Amino acid sequence: MAEAPLFKRAALIGIGLIGASMALAMRRSGLAGEIVCAARSEKTRETALRLGLADAAFASPRDAVKGADLVVLATPIGAFAQIAEEIGPVLEAGTVVTDVGSVKGMVFRDVAPHLPLNVHLVPGHPVAGTEHSGPEAGFAELFENRWCILTPAEDADQAAVDRISALWTAMGAKVELMSAQHHDLVLAITSHVPHLIAYNIVGTASDLETVTQSEVIKYSAGGFRDFTRIAASDPTMWRDVFLNNRDAVIEMLGRFVEDLIALQRAIRWGEGDTLFDLFTKTRAIRRSIIDAGQETQATDFGRRAKGSAE
Ligand code: NAP
Repeated sequence: MAEAPLFKRAALIGIGLIGASMALAMRRSGLAGEIVCAARSEKTRETALRLGLADAAFASPRDAVKGADLVVLATPIGAFAQIAEEIGPVLEAGTVVTDVGSVKGMVFRDVAPHLPLNVHLVPGHPVAGTEHSGPEAGFAELFENRWCILTPAEDADQAAVDRISALWTAMGAKVELMSAQHHDLVLAITSHVPHLIAYNIVGTASDLETVTQSEVIKYSAGGFRDFTRIAASDPTMWRDVFLNNRDAVIEMLGRFVEDLIALQRAIRWGEGDTLFDLFTKTRAIRRSIIDAGQETQATDFGRRAKGSAE
């Protein structure tokens, strides 16, 4: 007899890049008996059905979660509080609620208070993504060999944590557990600040008056181009990230600015050794990322049309 799926009915609230990729990966491995979704726009709901991402698509998250034993919040994090408030009263006992948001502390602030005590919350963050959005951007391999960080509370239900861990492992990810606070600090420096720097440098270049836009575009292969990929990331998602991980981002940004000033000083005073030593150290960091299987040597950074970690 075939093994029973991990979940009977999975409800994906939000079916964009991440939700759609989860749907495809879950289908591929038969992880849910049934997959339903909720999305705001009719266009997204139609696309989800057309692509076979979900068996049913609802406008209301409340309708989508009825009868679900797994609920995944996969909208921009700024929408979590309202969705949790809406679905809380209709969640069934024993349901596991998780999310894929890029900030984790805020899940305990915005989601946890709305959930009944007999529902298990296991927040998660797949550290995988692209600059593309929407259900058509999803692909089943997105999470393969990428980390998924789970940040359950210390007193979380162990069986629920194990099931979410098994879900991500079956979708190809490597699972790590840490506290929400630690996650937010680590991701501030590995993801959030780098995105802010990319948004900033692309913004600065577009504001320059003495260098023309066409020159910026023409000579972009000099380095600028790689920042533009990151700076093309979804504006709503990233606005919400900065609004909800304020303290950690400000702390890491403070460190970054200090180090940048030190570099500015080294350039001013012609301290070549300082520059050379740093650039040698950073080259080794890139090598260790490649050695860890989180990137390839390929000249386009190994990216296909879609792919690569965020
Ligand atoms: P996305 O492609 O833009 O999709 C967002 C989905 O949420 C869409 O189905 C959208 O429906 C729905 N939605 C948007 N605003 C909503 C609202 N106010 N209420 C209800 N539904 C709403 O986003 P994504 O890239 O999949 O990101 C989803 C989550 O994953 C975010 O929390 C993000 O932090 C996290 N994440 C993203 C990445 C990445 O690289 N993209 C990586 C890891 C984690 P409509 O289409 O109908 O508007």
